[in-house]
Amino acid sequence: MTSKPNKNNYLTKEYDLIFMTQRFSLTHTPPPDKTPAFWFIFRQKNLLVNSENTVELLPRLRGPEELSLHLLRRQFIGNFAGIPCYAAEVAEDQVAPPSYEFRSLRGLLSLLEEDLFFTAGRALQIIHWDRTHQYCGQCGAPTVQENHQHSRRCSRCGLTTFPRLSPAVIVLVTRGREVLLARSPRFTPGMYSTLAGFVEPGESLEECIHREIREEVGVEVANLRYFGSQPWPFPHSLMIGFHAEYAGGDIVVDGEEIEAAGWFPLIKLPPLPPPGSIARKLIEAYLNKYSSNQTKG
Ligand SMILES: [Zn+2]
Repeated sequence: MTSKPNKNNYLTKEYDLIFMTQRFSLTHTPPPDKTPAFWFIFRQKNLLVNSENTVELLPRLRGPEELSLHLLRRQFIGNFAGIPCYAAEVAEDQVAPPSYEFRSLRGLLSLLEEDLFFTAGRALQIIHWDRTHQYCGQCGAPTVQENHQHSRRCSRCGLTTFPRLSPAVIVLVTRGREVLLARSPRFTPGMYSTLAGFVEPGESLEECIHREIREEVGVEVANLRYFGSQPWPFPHSLMIGFHAEYAGGDIVVDGEEIEAAGWFPLIKLPPLPPPGSIARKLIEAYLNKYSSNQTKG
């Protein structure tokens, strides 16, 4: 199950990006009951997958009763390759049915096909939103699901809420054959990555890039180039990727978000984030572009 991306869908043609859930189509009209569907069933952040069938990890069911599962909530989210998709949640103490297991969605990034992984991420975000918006944030009355879109409307004051998205910039700072990588105390030992930070209200992406890089490592950048974007459903980020060139200053780490940072030669990179992540793609794209330019030059 592979398909080539339509390059016209992307904002830039500089890179051959594959960040989109190409086989997913958004619709709000669920199929008739008992239609076979993909079920993205979460127990907290863990997804129910088949433990015996590695070819088709996701359960394809006529309904959750096929696996005797009691759902706390369910949402129809659209179609994947023409197959209806449901997002659902079970209680924390739900035991996986025979030949199934609950696995961390993060850990499935390298196991699921990319567009299926991001469809699972979409499902997780919708479930998270549904769970956290049962009551109005303005007056506290119960909210009611609307059918024509993902939204919940307050039964008393009418306030409508949509799934929350948190835009964040993620930036590879380059200096010729070196790249600036940093590590957060949360990372696995030894791993370094690109710099990233959430966009503040009232801030443009460009302003955010300059501020975050200045705050985290104390350097200035120029020549920002949009790279691509990637939803990151933990719990609701939208990562917007850029390449930026070093323009001045010495590295001074902030000591909180960043515990170490440095310039790494492209030929001697430290352990990097997993394949499939936008951080890894930012680094690999620069690596490929730099080496092909060197070859040509
Ligand atoms: Zn209200």
